[in-house]
Amino acid sequence: MKDTYRHQGMRNKLAGIVQEKGISDKRIVNAVKKIPRHLFMDSSFEDHAYQDKAFPIGASQTISQPYTVAFQTELLNIKKGDTILEIGTGSGYQTAMLLELGAVVYTIERQKELFKKTNLFLPKLGYKPKKMIFGDGYKGLPDEAPFDGIIVTAGAPFVPKPLMAQLKVGGRLVIPVGDAVQTMTLYTRKSPKEFEKHEFGEFRFVPMLEDRN
Ligand code: SAH
Repeated sequence: MKDTYRHQGMRNKLAGIVQEKGISDKRIVNAVKKIPRHLFMDSSFEDHAYQDKAFPIGASQTISQPYTVAFQTELLNIKKGDTILEIGTGSGYQTAMLLELGAVVYTIERQKELFKKTNLFLPKLGYKPKKMIFGDGYKGLPDEAPFDGIIVTAGAPFVPKPLMAQLKVGGRLVIPVGDAVQTMTLYTRKSPKEFEKHEFGEFRFVPMLEDRN
């Protein structure tokens, strides 16, 4: 599959939609204009790639809606060089967004098939996470902690304690919490023991599943 002027035109439109929905960070809007989302999906969905919608990516998982990716990224408030842990690599689209913003990215995926595919695919587009890990996101990544930010891109039935523990003071955890429907939740670590919690409305993600490798 190729990236053409036609795709670029559709991306510019999508960036406009994301902006209209309330995303104001120019870096994020520019990333939507830049990342060739159609290449992150099966070619049969090519015509849908630049709609603001989630789509199947195999292994009964989805690529998140662009607005949701932009919104979660905005909540992370990334500065260049921040270390970010992502739970749920999936297609790698969110990973690409984090890299476009200059983050140092660690990303975990529990589905082998998706892990393998995205592990090969992302570097081909020039996107190089610091580490891509096949494993269970509930545990986080203690060896590389603490992180400036942690983003969970699957619906979490509860907030995993290890993720809270792996945040720097001042660090942010962005996590959709709930079963069928999730509330987008931001935890900011104020001190080793204190977290501030903010909620941002309802979203629908595929569930964050317990490890069953
Ligand atoms: N950011 C991805 C979203 C993919 S959907 C994208 O935009 O493409 C959520 C992903 O989380 C799926 O790939 C799913 O396999 C993964 N996932 C679910 N539970 C997980 C867990 N416990 N640890 C790591 N990844 C998990």
